[in-house]
Amino acid sequence: MSSRQSESADLLHAASQVFVPIYQPRPFVLDHGRGARLWDTDGREYVDFAAGIAVCSLGHADAELAEVLSAQASRLWHTSNVFHNQPAIELAQALIRSASFARRVFLCNSGAEANEAAIKLARRWAAQQGRPAERRSILTYSGSFHGRTLATVTATAQPKYQQGFEPLPPGFVHARFNDLSATEAALADGSVCAVLVEPVQGEGGVMPAAPGFLSGLRGLCDRYGALLILDEIQCGMGRTGTLFAHEQDAVEPDVVTLAKALGGGFPIGAMLAGSRVADTLQHGAHGTTFGGNPLASAVARAALRRLAEPALLQHVAVRGCELREGLVAMARDTGVFSDVRGRGLMLGGVLAQHLRGRAGELVDQGIAHGVLVLQAGPDVLRLVPPLVLDDLDVKDGIARLRMAVDAFLGIDAH
Ligand SMILES: *Cc1c(COP(=O)(O)O)cnc(C)c1O
Repeated sequence: MSSRQSESADLLHAASQVFVPIYQPRPFVLDHGRGARLWDTDGREYVDFAAGIAVCSLGHADAELAEVLSAQASRLWHTSNVFHNQPAIELAQALIRSASFARRVFLCNSGAEANEAAIKLARRWAAQQGRPAERRSILTYSGSFHGRTLATVTATAQPKYQQGFEPLPPGFVHARFNDLSATEAALADGSVCAVLVEPVQGEGGVMPAAPGFLSGLRGLCDRYGALLILDEIQCGMGRTGTLFAHEQDAVEPDVVTLAKALGGGFPIGAMLAGSRVADTLQHGAHGTTFGGNPLASAVARAALRRLAEPALLQHVAVRGCELREGLVAMARDTGVFSDVRGRGLMLGGVLAQHLRGRAGELVDQGIAHGVLVLQAGPDVLRLVPPLVLDDLDVKDGIARLRMAVDAFLGIDAH
């Protein structure tokens, strides 16, 4: 073993001792990156089709983001919301300019926190209309993912995330995704004050809203007095080829939540509020110490400018087609996927029936062959690369993934 390898082994051993064991990171340690490539502490290179779970959309070690961060780091790190800071104000202005529906912004630090704010806003909005607590339910969908706090994990309509954490907070109801009649049945008695939905479900298996579903929801929400809250934490910020995924569905939401790619890798979340609810949460109604942190805001401001560029969004569409074609060809040649779905650079390969439940093994084979991919549940391989990847990254990554698939299927044949 080289000294670097024994250093890596030491780190892995330490990790197994020190952390609450809720994660099972793969047994290597990432060290540095550039663009859509990463290197581990043993010097092995990977094509990154994971981007830290759809976070590092401008790739790794982006020179401009690094420059903005270090410039801000030598000016001002934190003020709290008792005092103003310029980067937070400018970020909020830019978000409002970018999202045509948005009037006001709440800045926070993560996706769960953005959704938590949206849930509280919806409840407060309904309360201000004199609706009693039992008529302030939030409707969410099968296969959704909205976060891990108690409220957002309750919104996440998947038992595997909830078991053993009961009692869960009341006031959440669920319907089948892409099912407008089930939605109407849930809304019809006026007990629901908001529908919370991902335009493209991420963790639930890279499942886009069916054409017309979101605009149908808008109509139902208007008819039955509910807000439409879009969780664009994973699918937003250019990932699907438009800055916000809902632009493609031509719907006007009341609230949009953002996080993941918003800070290009620096932790930050945001809730954007439209005109109907912009003034719902008044002084003292909500808050978070780090929200609008100058470091996070400065980086997010720079990231937003780049992610909103038409050329970048066009690049996402082109690279998305290439990557999709690579997956489709792989499916045709090997039978590994029964379906390839998603939008832009948010793609899922659904494992063929006889391979269901084994997405994690394919992720492992990817690592062995130098490409980082994710799973979305046990049955779907998820690709959410940095949006800036180039054609060579796509070609190399697909070639490596093909070798991983061959090895994965070869193991099966023995
Ligand atoms: C990741 C994610 C969240 C939770 O974000 P955190 O930053 O992990 O709290 C919520 N909704 C969606 C759609 C996500 O993908």
